[in-house]
Amino acid sequence: MTFSDFNFDPQLVEGLQSMGYVKPTPIQSQAIPLILDHKDLIACVQTGTGKTASYLLPVLQHISISEKKYTKALILAPTRELAQQIDQQVEGLAYFAGISSIAVYGGGDGMIYEQQRRAMIDGVDIVIATPGRLIAHLASGVIKLDHLQYLVLDEADRMLDMGFYEDILRIISSLPKERQTLLFSATMPPKIRTLANTILKNPEQINIALSQPAAGISQQVYMVYDNQKIKLISTLLKGGAYKSVLIFCSRKETVKDLNRTLRKEGIKSEAFHSDLEQQQRETVLRAFKSRTLPVIIGTDVLSRGIDVEGISLVINFDVPPDPEDYIHRIGRTARAETTGTAITFVNEKDQRKFSFIENLIGKEIPRMTLPEDFGEGPVYSPGMKRPSSGGNQRNGRNKKKVWVNRKQA
Ligand code: AMP
Repeated sequence: MTFSDFNFDPQLVEGLQSMGYVKPTPIQSQAIPLILDHKDLIACVQTGTGKTASYLLPVLQHISISEKKYTKALILAPTRELAQQIDQQVEGLAYFAGISSIAVYGGGDGMIYEQQRRAMIDGVDIVIATPGRLIAHLASGVIKLDHLQYLVLDEADRMLDMGFYEDILRIISSLPKERQTLLFSATMPPKIRTLANTILKNPEQINIALSQPAAGISQQVYMVYDNQKIKLISTLLKGGAYKSVLIFCSRKETVKDLNRTLRKEGIKSEAFHSDLEQQQRETVLRAFKSRTLPVIIGTDVLSRGIDVEGISLVINFDVPPDPEDYIHRIGRTARAETTGTAITFVNEKDQRKFSFIENLIGKEIPRMTLPEDFGEGPVYSPGMKRPSSGGNQRNGRNKKKVWVNRKQA
């Protein structure tokens, strides 16, 4: 299948070309015809697969050939970073088609709120919003969604994890009943099914492979004691082989400590976590994207929010509490069929959690030997493994709450 099979408006084709998309990804080949055919859709698909463009392209196609006067599409996303990434893709794809969009998210100062308000009063074509902030705008009566035709829920599972279920229902209650609804989620826990049954009409379903890391990622693991981790990072980074590096830690305190330590070691790094102001987050991401900053250290907030091409290395300074977060973290490298390396540090305490990850991805991640002058790392002995989910990895997330107490970073 090629993009020309979809008969997109020439201006949209120009947008596609300017973004450098040559061939549709599997989710795009499957979703675009269904959405163009006005079907509701529930798609089980991870980030990194081209899922954003799979719903944006048909929505943009529709808007480009219709009257641009009202807000036609609402995209709900869990975090401001994701909302901004989606907005950037709209800007790229719709540049020549003259379609307007605004990302609406919380935080920031009064000026940002005012900008969002103005754009909505002026009747922006596409609103991309986090649920909380959208509700604030809905309550103020500024946003008019009477002519809405598309509702997209992106990363719906993460929105529910973040406690947005009621907010989503509230938002939907203010939308026209006649609309096309598209739900994208990396996992399908029962709550997502319930939500889908409530808000979708005879949906088509797409399931793009199970949660598996992209084939281009070389995964590696080091069994280490905590006091070996910093030295190992320095050793890995000082070789200069990796130009663009993300380091994930599960707690923001660890992020801050590690950032201080690495900077003392002469490594140019910045921390990224939920305590940063919006402005600070954007500055860090901009520097990283422009390659003036080689290393970002962040919590899992970063794993969902960052879409940068050419990340060569992801390091898990510790093992994420939820095995699915491992996939999200390492999915930041090897985007769109390139290659990258993902290295995980596993101390004695994290071995059991690590074994759950190997269960989830259904294979053993190659063990690396510590450099000679490091001494021995801990022996791998994870103890009792979580029972296998019989090949249906989605169950991993359903069962999560039984065995891990997730902390929002
Ligand atoms: P997503 O899964 O939407 O987060 O997309 C992952 C990355 O793939 C983003 O950087 C997109 O710009 C890129 N992408 C999306 N569709 C294509 C395509 N057809 N060809 C090449 N890159 C793409």
